[in-house]
Order: sequence, then C-alpha cells, then structure tokens
Amino acid sequence: MDIRKILNNFEQNGFAVHSFDNREQLLDHLKASVPVSATAGFGGSSTLRELGIPETLKAMGVTTFDHWEPDLSPEDLLRYRLEQGRADWFFTSVNAATENGRLVLVDGVGNRVAAAVYGPGKVVYVFGTNKIRESVHAAFERVKTIAGPMRAKSLNMKTPCIKTGVCEDCDSPQRICRAKLIVDRAPFSTPSEVWLIDGNWGY
Ligand code: SF4
Repeated sequence: MDIRKILNNFEQNGFAVHSFDNREQLLDHLKASVPVSATAGFGGSSTLRELGIPETLKAMGVTTFDHWEPDLSPEDLLRYRLEQGRADWFFTSVNAATENGRLVLVDGVGNRVAAAVYGPGKVVYVFGTNKIRESVHAAFERVKTIAGPMRAKSLNMKTPCIKTGVCEDCDSPQRICRAKLIVDRAPFSTPSEVWLIDGNWGY
C-alpha cells in the first residue's frame, strides 16, 4: 500500500490531508488545531472513541455534541445530533476509503452522513489504514463483511449478520444500514480533511 500516493489522491480530490504514525501524534495535532472557543460534533464512530478524540476535546474545554454520552435524554439526543451538523468541527470516521481517494459511509440514523457533506464549518474524516481498499466495490465488501456485522453486534441488534458475520441485506426492523454515502470529492462549501493514522482503528 503506497500511503503517499493514496494521500495525494485525496488531495487531488479536494481534501486537506494529514497522516500520523500513532495516536499520540494525532492527538497532538488535534490539540494544536481546534481552538478552545470552537464547537465540535462527532459522528457515531468507534475509531474516534478508541483514539480519544471526544475526551481530548472535552478536557480542553471545547463545547462538544457527543450523542454517545451515556444517559442522554431523548431531547438531548436529538439536539446533539442536530448540533453536530452545525458545529465548527465535525469529526467522523468512515466505513471504508479507497486508494483513489473516495470515502464510503453507511449510516442508520443519518446524522453522520448528513453532517459529513453539508453544515459544519469543517469536516474531518479520521480513519486507520485498515479501512483502505482498492476500489469502491471492495469498500462496500468491507462494509458487508466487517463494518456492518460488527456494528450490529456491538449494538446487540436482532439482525442475521450477528450470527453469520456477513451482511445478508436484511429486512430486519433493527437493520442498521439505512443510508449509503460515497464522497467522490470534498463538497463545495465544506472544508474537508482526511486524517489517516497507521494501524487498525475501529471497525
Ligand atoms: S443490512 Fe442487515 S444484515 Fe446487512 S450488515 Fe446491515 S444490519 Fe447486518
């Protein structure tokens, strides 16, 4: 995998790019980039939590909208998801990325894919090298064989992929895969960054 070439492809597609060898490097860059006066939202993402991005920003005193905080009331859950889409910074991971600089996201509620392409002051896509695939087709294969089943399992959903480990394009009422997004180029009007970190992060 030629990481330099992949990052160049993302740059060609309109993304500012940053790469990191480890978590410490990434968090140092985060702290140097986001002003304390900013607001920040987070898409549903195990990668962001594994890296400690929400916790780091909260500790800095940044105003955050994190709908994965425990014990939120239904009103706050709704408000946080809406505020994410208008935050100064919106952080999300992706389900897969391609070598030619595309991003693939699949969502259940829709707040993540909505905020990713319009609304926040800036969008930062954070993902590990484990999520890179050679094509959009292979990216969706990753969703079907890794990301979708693992996310459904983490939520203890009653979906067939929990048992088989593979997507069956289910009709379950608890299906978590409800909206697909392919970002071919950084959208007009939304400064977008790719933060690529070496290693296995999220699923
Ligand atoms: S569509 Fe259904 S079976 Fe496929 S990954 Fe999503 S929840 Fe699982």
